[in-house]
Amino acid sequence: MTNEQSIRCGHCGFHLPCRTWGFFYVTDDDGNRILLEGDLESTIIADALGINEDDITGCVFAPDRNESSILLMQERVGYCSFCFCRTCHERCALDQKRDTIRCPSCGSDDVATFIGLIGTACPKCGTGTLEERAMSTGEGGKR
Ligand SMILES: [Zn+2]
Ligand SMILES: [Zn+2]
Repeated sequence: MTNEQSIRCGHCGFHLPCRTWGFFYVTDDDGNRILLEGDLESTIIADALGINEDDITGCVFAPDRNESSILLMQERVGYCSFCFCRTCHERCALDQKRDTIRCPSCGSDDVATFIGLIGTACPKCGTGTLEERAMSTGEGGKR
């Protein structure tokens, strides 16, 4: 029953599976990015930032009393978008607000987010246009 999104070229069949466009992360004290699988998971965020989980909930209800936690979250919680390098065809995840948009594999700056690829020329054949497609998994199964 799961529907998987993909970006596909109707001309050569090139496709990039993309379940999501990106993910939230929180940076821990050592500068490592911890991926947040679902929505903003307050337990993981609180743990990485060394604050109380209540402070995160408190930010919503009493923003003025939790200013330091809010600042900490603004500083350390971010969103990474999945990106595709048109030069080497590698995928990566970059925070568009904080990271230099450059391919970590080959150093090219011809990197586009998955969303940004839609409607552009196919990087493989150069003839087709990339389109967003929803494809259902489990194809070919009998009902
Ligand atoms: Zn193509
Ligand atoms: Zn590259």
